[in-house]
Amino acid sequence: MPDQVRFIQHKETRYDAYVAELVSAKGYGKERHYAGISDRDQAESVRKALRQAGRHVGVSVKSYWEPCPNPGRCPAGKECRWHVRYSAYRQEDARAYKERISRRARGN
Ligand SMILES: [Zn+2]
Repeated sequence: MPDQVRFIQHKETRYDAYVAELVSAKGYGKERHYAGISDRDQAESVRKALRQAGRHVGVSVKSYWEPCPNPGRCPAGKECRWHVRYSAYRQEDARAYKERISRRARGN
């Protein structure tokens, strides 16, 4: 189904710009919200798409979703129910961090 493939590719690269913009505007380790999401399945696909966008852009992205803190009165819109928080890290820093954690888990 070539149409579907094109659609998915288009959707994925849309988020590359969010990650690239975050890094150029705020640098690493700073968090942003992607808000205005009305259902949880969509929040989950945005979360995954942002992580994938990080791989395209060459950074490591941490992302997770949470319920909108102000449903019905959110600046992102009346329909907003979920936010995805995301931040970017240098790939080598993320790798070093994971290694530290797993060394500690092994007890040395
Ligand atoms: Zn909201």
